[in-house]
Amino acid sequence: MDDCVFCKIIDKTQPASIIYEDDDVVVFLDTRPVRSGHCLVVPKEHYVNILDTPQDVVSKLFMAVQRTAKAVQKVTGADGISVFQNNGRSALQVIFHVHVHVVPRFENDGFRERYVELIRPIRIAPSRDELDDLAVKLGDEF
Ligand SMILES: [Zn+2]
Repeated sequence: MDDCVFCKIIDKTQPASIIYEDDDVVVFLDTRPVRSGHCLVVPKEHYVNILDTPQDVVSKLFMAVQRTAKAVQKVTGADGISVFQNNGRSALQVIFHVHVHVVPRFENDGFRERYVELIRPIRIAPSRDELDDLAVKLGDEF
């Protein structure tokens, strides 16, 4: 992918602060971190999002996510770790090479309050029947 910034980082034509890489994944620091220690975990092969990524690659990606979370927690002393993975423009995906954000969180960093403020007004309250009907439809797709 010629115009993919993550592919350029992977093939070393664009600089990045890489913290880990192996045959399958690369982990580097986000250049616009929401907190110091915010990492991005990406597969070396270009896939657009989680929907088109083969399961074995997803598995390797998330094994690296866990290792990244442990490293971030240890180095930053974070109280918690957020793991974000966005698919599609409507889900706030900006770089269309599948990736996972690993972000250190702290008790008083303001994230929790802002998240609750954002999410609470848009949450819906479906009935048990609606939940059960949807669960059957989704279960049929497994
Ligand atoms: Zn790419």
